[in-house]
Formats: sequence, C-alpha cells, structure tokens
Amino acid sequence: MDFSVREELEALRASVRRFYETEIKPKIADYESRRIFPRDIIEKMGAAGFFGAAFGEDVGGSNIGFEAVAVISEEISRLRPEFGYTMNMQAMTCPMTIYNWGTEEQVQRFVPDLIAGRAIGMFALTEPGGGSDAAGSMQTRAERRGDRYILNGSKMWITFSDQCDTGLLFAKTDPNAGHRGITAFIVEPKRFKGFTATPIEMRGLSPVLRTCAVSLEDFEVPVENRLGAEGDGFKVAMSALDFGRLTVSARLTGLAQACFELATDYAKTRVVGGQPIGRYQMVQHQIADMAVEIEAARLLTAKTAWLMDTNQPARRAASYSKYFAGNVAKKAALATAEIYGGYALADEYPISYYTAYINMLHVGEGSPNVQRILIAEDALGYKDANRHPIKRRSLNQKAA
Ligand SMILES: Cc1cc2nc3c(=O)[nH]c(=O)nc-3n(C[C@H](O)[C@H](O)[C@H](O)COP(=O)(O)OP(=O)(O)OC[C@H]3O[C@@H](n4cnc5c(N)ncnc54)[C@H](O)[C@@H]3O)c2cc1C
Repeated sequence: MDFSVREELEALRASVRRFYETEIKPKIADYESRRIFPRDIIEKMGAAGFFGAAFGEDVGGSNIGFEAVAVISEEISRLRPEFGYTMNMQAMTCPMTIYNWGTEEQVQRFVPDLIAGRAIGMFALTEPGGGSDAAGSMQTRAERRGDRYILNGSKMWITFSDQCDTGLLFAKTDPNAGHRGITAFIVEPKRFKGFTATPIEMRGLSPVLRTCAVSLEDFEVPVENRLGAEGDGFKVAMSALDFGRLTVSARLTGLAQACFELATDYAKTRVVGGQPIGRYQMVQHQIADMAVEIEAARLLTAKTAWLMDTNQPARRAASYSKYFAGNVAKKAALATAEIYGGYALADEYPISYYTAYINMLHVGEGSPNVQRILIAEDALGYKDANRHPIKRRSLNQKAA
C-alpha cells in the first residue's frame, strides 16, 4: 500500500466538496420542505463520475478504483450523510452486483443508467422477520410461471424503494433448500404491477432520501432478469455486502470526521471556568481518542479498498473495517455530544442528525454482533472469512 498523498484522490475529495457547495447545500432545504426526492442532484452526482469510479469504461465508468469509491463515500457523508446512501444504491450494492454477476446483456442494459444516476437503484434483502439472519428469515417466494417469476412477500427497511427504477431483490425459489433456495432478481418496480413501497417515518433521518417497507403481490419479474442461477442468491447477496461494507466503513469514517470537526471547533471556543474547554485534560482525552481512531478507521477502509483494487479476497478486511469504523463513529458521536453539553440537543447543531445516521450505519450491512461472529469465527479458525473467491467482472473476463 502506498501512504503518500495521492493527488488524484485529493482532487476527487475537493470535487465532492465543490459539488456539495454548489449543488446540494443551496438546494436541499427546499427539497425537504417540498418533500421532493432530489433526483436531479443524484443525476448530477452520476454525471460528475461519483458512482462510476470502480466501473469499466465500457459501461460509462472511469475505472479509478475502490480507493476512490472510499474517498467519495467518506467525503459526501461528512458533508451530508443521507447522500451517502447513493454510494450503495447507485454504485456498490446494486450496480456493482449486476456488473459482477450479470450477463453481458444485463450489464449493458442496467449498469450504465444506474451509475449515471439516470435510474434509481435499490438493494432489497432484509425482511420483517430480521436482517441478521437474512436467509433464515426470508419468507418472500418467487414462483416460475413460463417466462416470468411471480413474487409474493414483503421486505423491510429498503432504502430508495419508493423511487426505484432498477433494483436487486432476493426471494426463495425453493423454500425447502435453506440459503441454497434463494435467488437474486433484477427488478423494475415502475414497469410491473404488484410492488408497493411505504416510507417508514423516522424522526431524525432525511424526509426525502427514504427507507420503506415493501409489499409484493404477484409482482412480475421476467426470467431474463434473474441474476445468476436459481439458488445463487445468497452468494450474490454476500458478495454485494462485501462492496457495501466498503462504502459503509467510509461513510462511518466521514461521519466520525464530521463529529470530530464539530467537537474541536466547539472545544476551542466554548469558555468555561475562564478558559476554553479544549484546555481541560478530560476533553483533550476525548479529542485525542477521536483523532487517532478516525485515522485508523480510514486506514482500515483504505486497506479494504486496496485489496479490492488488487483483486485480492477482501471479505475479512471489509468486516474489520465496518466493525471498527462503526465503533469509532459511535464513540465520536457520544464524545461530541458530551463536549457540547446541553447544546448537543439544539437543532442549531447537527449532532443528533449525525448520531442517527451513525446508528443506522452501525446496524446496517451486518450489525456489530454479526461482524463479531464473522471476525471471531475466522480468528478461531472455524470459518475462514476469505474462503470464497471474489466475484469480479474484470476477473471473470480474464478467465473467459
Ligand atoms: C435506515 C435503514 C436503512 C436500511 N436500508 C436497507 C436496504 O436498503 N436494504 C436492506 O436489505 N436492508 C436495509 N436495512 C436493514 C438493515 O440491514 C437491518 O436493520 C440489519 O441487517 C439488522 O436487521 P434487523 O434490524 O432485522 O435486526 P435483527 O436481525 O432483528 O437483530 C437485532 C439485534 O440482535 C442481534 N443479533 C441477531 N442475531 C444475533 C446472533 N446470532 N448473535 C448475537 N446477536 C444477534 C443483532 O446484532 C441486533 O443487535 C436498513 C435499515 C435501516 C435502519
């Protein structure tokens, strides 16, 4: 790994900042007050190349790589955490999975529009019965009838499902085969009847970039939209989560950094007992922990990205970085709230907002306990976290 400052990555970080200043900051309050999904902003993010960094030029990507994905995800989440969702729905969990697992026809049909932000993506795995054991609790059924699958069931906590044009959805084609009975589908909720998304009211999260409960009633999926073979769905989902955990680690690092910046600003200016609170040793202890731990989270995330860029197994690293960045961000949010005292609760400061997104990312893409299980079983030698080869389109093409 190269630790020197890479100019192209720093330029990318600066371009995300500029984009935020010109395209998001002046407009987002208006979208929120009118409850409008910022579709045009997402399309501009696509046009700016934010989603295509790890995709080949054949689908409109720039092929800069996963380290760039981490930088963009971190920076956008530091500035405006709800836009971090786009790095999953428009980049990693949805289009990257189609890119890695799809036929040439599926890739060319769906990926370019998703990474350009012209189509809104979705990743629908979790169900009301529980997300940690997604395979065990999956009740959604897909039944093949001629050249269609008919899907019935429900999904829970599905981000952007109220706006989705092209998404991934997992259902059981063989309910008696455990995780081997799961199949992945590319779904088009606006083309076919039977898909209803109902936004979940969540105080503290964005009112326009939303997460919903989904109900499927005889929802049709053409056979040519099946992703992989029948029964491959669990492998597809796990490989999607590897890439999703990269962006989630980066998003958590960005949020921790945002807390750190708030905390240091306030500690330098809030005067109590005749001096800024930053002069007090116990506050310095909190600031020191944040500074070091955020850098460590960033480096673990960069290592995950580097493994992906160099086509090495990255599942262990993705778990480590997601687990660590989640704990670091939680601790940073708590310390920042303590440093702000009562003012942490004032809407004037975004501490509660950051904390809500940190809590969400802490549990999403594998809760801390799920990560602990994966990490400990690997460390104890029970289950090698890197036992499966990574599924990457570039590698498949080389092998072909
Ligand atoms: C805002 C938001 C957006 C989301 N977006 C999406 C999305 O777009 N797509 C999607 O598919 N999902 C999404 N999710 C769902 C998310 O991935 C799940 O919430 C997560 O996987 C946990 O599932 P659960 O909430 O059902 O908790 P549960 O699985 O019920 O777990 C509850 C608690 O029990 C613990 N636990 C469970 N099993 C064990 C065990 N074996 N040992 C020890 N502890 C255990 C967990 O760690 C957790 O603390 C989103 C969630 C939120 C809140």
